[in-house]
Amino acid sequence: MLGSLENLVSALTKLPTIGRKSAWRLALHIMERPESEAKFLADTLVTVRQKIKRCRICYNYSEQDICDVCASASRDKSIICVVEKPTDVFTIENSGRYRGLYHVLGGLLSPLNGITAEKLQIAPFMERLRAGGVEEIIIGLGGSSDAETTSLYIAKILKDRDIKVTRFARGLPVGLELEHVDQLTLTQALNERIDVAWTR
Ligand SMILES: [Zn+2]
Repeated sequence: MLGSLENLVSALTKLPTIGRKSAWRLALHIMERPESEAKFLADTLVTVRQKIKRCRICYNYSEQDICDVCASASRDKSIICVVEKPTDVFTIENSGRYRGLYHVLGGLLSPLNGITAEKLQIAPFMERLRAGGVEEIIIGLGGSSDAETTSLYIAKILKDRDIKVTRFARGLPVGLELEHVDQLTLTQALNERIDVAWTR
């Protein structure tokens, strides 16, 4: 009898951190609000999926072919911060302390799960470097073991280039994803970034 309501609940449980109990609460909330609000929510979801694409330079989300960061004249184009996913760009942008550009890998290397370099946006990254003008790469990946593997991989492919390679300094908790790092720690890690040691 309540098939459509249950469909909504099961759709909501597909969202991160939403269990069945929260999903029911949200579904009932939507039922109790004016129909226009439900329509607005539904339309917004569809529109955002249709409009947002990947920036063709940095692979961050963008409504244009080139995102606001890449298109901005006030950003320092000699620095690129390599991150795992678009939410990391939002996290770093929110710190308000970074003026360089980004490159979104679209994941982390994970040989055991079949995630190889070819599945990430590493080739376009190398192409950006070949275009010239980049003086520093900040490896802005989190503290998980896949992040560590990816950081080392990137450091290795940059080794013979005349580019300074740094990574976030101390303070990033081991195993934690960037989006869960608090603002102060992130700002500190960004300000005190360290050269990648080639000896490892
Ligand atoms: Zn971009």
